[in-house]
Amino acid sequence: MKSAFVLLASAAFVCAAPLTTAAIAQPQADTIDTTVPTQLPRTAIPHHYALTITPHADKLSFDGTVEIDLEVVKPTNQLVLNAADINFESARLTSGGRGNVPAKVSTDAAAQTATLTFPRTLTPGNYHLVVAYTGKINTQANGLFALDYKDVDGKAARSLFTQFEAADARRFVPSWDEPDYKAKWDLTVRVPARLMAVGNMPAASSKPLAGGMKEVRFQTSPTMSSYLLFFALGDFDRITKPAGDREVGVVVSRGNGSKGQYALDAEAQILPYYNDYFGTPYPLPKLDNVGGPGQSQFFSAMENWGAIFTFEYSILNDPAITSEGGRQQIFGTEAHEMAHQWFGDLVTMAWWDDLWLNEGFASWMATKATEHFHPDWGADIGRVGAREGAMGQDSFRSTHPVVQHVRTVEQANQAFDAITYSKGESVLAMLETFAGPDTWRKGIQTYIKQHQYQNTRTDDLWAAMERVGATGLTQIARDFTTQPGIPLIKVGPAQCVNGQTAVTVTQSQFSSDAKDEVAARPLSWHVPVRASAGGAVTTTVTNGPTTPVTAPGCGPLLINAGQSGYYRTLYTPAELQALKGAFPRLATVDQFGVLADQLTLSETAYQPMSEGMDFVAEVPGNADPRLVQAAVGFWAGIYGDFDKNPQVQAAIAARVGKIYGPRLQQLGFTPRTSDTPSEAVLRNTMIRSLGAMGDPAVVAEAKRLFAAWQADPNAIPGSLKTTWLQVVARNADQSTWDAIHARAKASTNALEHTSLYQLLSIAHDDALAKRALDLAMTDEPGKTTSAGMITGVSGSHSRMAIDFVLAHLDQVNQLIDISGRSRFMQRLAGGSDDTSLIPILQNYAAANLAASDRKPVEQAIAQLQFRTSTQPRIRTEVAAWLAAHPA
Ligand SMILES: [Zn+2]
Repeated sequence: MKSAFVLLASAAFVCAAPLTTAAIAQPQADTIDTTVPTQLPRTAIPHHYALTITPHADKLSFDGTVEIDLEVVKPTNQLVLNAADINFESARLTSGGRGNVPAKVSTDAAAQTATLTFPRTLTPGNYHLVVAYTGKINTQANGLFALDYKDVDGKAARSLFTQFEAADARRFVPSWDEPDYKAKWDLTVRVPARLMAVGNMPAASSKPLAGGMKEVRFQTSPTMSSYLLFFALGDFDRITKPAGDREVGVVVSRGNGSKGQYALDAEAQILPYYNDYFGTPYPLPKLDNVGGPGQSQFFSAMENWGAIFTFEYSILNDPAITSEGGRQQIFGTEAHEMAHQWFGDLVTMAWWDDLWLNEGFASWMATKATEHFHPDWGADIGRVGAREGAMGQDSFRSTHPVVQHVRTVEQANQAFDAITYSKGESVLAMLETFAGPDTWRKGIQTYIKQHQYQNTRTDDLWAAMERVGATGLTQIARDFTTQPGIPLIKVGPAQCVNGQTAVTVTQSQFSSDAKDEVAARPLSWHVPVRASAGGAVTTTVTNGPTTPVTAPGCGPLLINAGQSGYYRTLYTPAELQALKGAFPRLATVDQFGVLADQLTLSETAYQPMSEGMDFVAEVPGNADPRLVQAAVGFWAGIYGDFDKNPQVQAAIAARVGKIYGPRLQQLGFTPRTSDTPSEAVLRNTMIRSLGAMGDPAVVAEAKRLFAAWQADPNAIPGSLKTTWLQVVARNADQSTWDAIHARAKASTNALEHTSLYQLLSIAHDDALAKRALDLAMTDEPGKTTSAGMITGVSGSHSRMAIDFVLAHLDQVNQLIDISGRSRFMQRLAGGSDDTSLIPILQNYAAANLAASDRKPVEQAIAQLQFRTSTQPRIRTEVAAWLAAHPA
């Protein structure tokens, strides 16, 4: 799944046995691994499901029958499986043609299970279970769900899709809905003949039924986990391309086919690359990517095997609205979901404890594919950005290890976070660098081959790596995946000895909110430290509190050269001074990494703010676009922190205008055919940041374009439309807001429709923010857009948004996917520094979340406390630095 990082029914699971790090039994497809946590008694294994579904889209319900071939492995008179919001009509069991044993069905809504009780004990052996039932079609992305939109003719239309990860297949079919119960699936659907049905596999047959209906039977799936099953139904266009001996396809609402071409081309490009990288060819006959309108608060795309689902904003390349950054996101999402076809679908984690094996890996692989096909997009820098994002969460007490113990459905949902995705990606990048890319790849290929169609634990991957020659990798890997937190590498004074630089590094732990605590008792890691002093890069693995490090050459010392390491580096003032002098000559990725690292060490008071800011001052207006973006981004953030001090804000705006304004003038306000991708992205970023700082030229152009756009919807180039309108919408007055609202209402382009409603939520004006909240409670924005609007309001009105949600909690919950609900408050508290929110959040958690599920709220509170405690110091030191460094 691609997490909706855009800004995020508790069942009591019972662990059959706690996970141990001791020898782990190898899971086999047809035996039960009793060390895997489960909610279900390990008495039966399903091998094959034959499922028939008849949706009633207008009534938001469906009929289902499922026939399950299963094996009873222990004598029992009960079968317990998963079911949620399912009404059972009948359930009966047959065995080898002998008899027909009806079951008494009882359900447990909290545990999301159904218990089938039989009049006699079932002896071990093979059985055939037949269940008839009805279920619900949801209006948020859980189970089978509906997305409404206006079609190409402007008529109201409804498409159906499924979303099952982590634990929602049980809303579609009573099943053993846990990742290690892999089985084969036969899906049959009875649907209106005029609509297109899509499944994991190609259709095996389609026959007409009475009343304008048809029955589509899909080919049998390979052995797979229940959360990967997929079905979609709608008025679709499907475009296809051959990719070797497989077919890739993009399925979008009718009329949008041409906008899916970009995603299709990416798919056709990536598939052979992955076939080659993984060494095991993609096993299904086709791979579709199915687009749906709207959004989710939980995810943006999902890796259903053979039928990826992606929200339209991340699959449609629409000349009317898609930016260069948006196109890069389409490629990145595709690369992520396609990597899951192997890592996740073909080889699946045994339990949600190891979710990072899916998500960290897909994120890492997507960056690799992007670097391969688009070396000019700066994916290497994106990876360092992901590292920084992960460290932002990992530096607090409330963090968790990459491999974590998941006990409830809600904890499984909460596991889809920056640690799982971005720390996972960063650690894998570090390990690949340690092993060397060729050995690493050999290890991946061995792992895939050995575990295909089965389930694994994290240690299985390390074992494969060691087997192909990555000696010592397991030690490093375990330290970084089973312990939380971030190593701090303190660099001692450097000495030049015989043309080599020698230093002693001292290992400690970096923390935002527990500095003294971790300094007194730091965790310990085996850290592969990569050092460069002008000559070749050396790698030294730390072992204990201090480690000697040498690097050829006697130039300025750079630790974490290449930026693949997951740690922070604190230099002595003298070494830092030398590094500043060398900064202009460093590789761009190192410049970006050092800048981010040193700024964070300053913001967390490991060193004065001036140390970090001196590096920002080393980024001139004509630097690499990605560095300029980082520097301008830093200033835009600091500008926001001075919202009660207009004088300093004016000084920051003037500085940014003087240093970086000329770069924007040179780029121009409209796209040029000569733009590199990085320049195109930079233009958007600079317009947004300079606009937020009130840059007169940007604000004047925004006004001019807005007036022109009111007369002609095509007056703003599509790739800059959202960016310019954001500048306008933030500073909107009543009449401007009304004008955007009118355009939003009239839009028949689903993508633009969502984007315009989102713009209505970002106004700084209090009264307009309130209007946006009220509007979100109506049916007008669309059922999946409203929650995003509330999040938008929280950007500059966090207290207002949170008060509003608490006053309308039941209504708002209907606007959020079940899987995203417990994290919604965390998102609203986002970047706020309003301490009055702390007791409000605490009360909300106590009243609404089980004690085991409060981590996101605790994280939000910790970050809020940290911001309020550090901001006075940061503001004082920044103001002093600005006074001492006139632009
Ligand atoms: Zn994913």
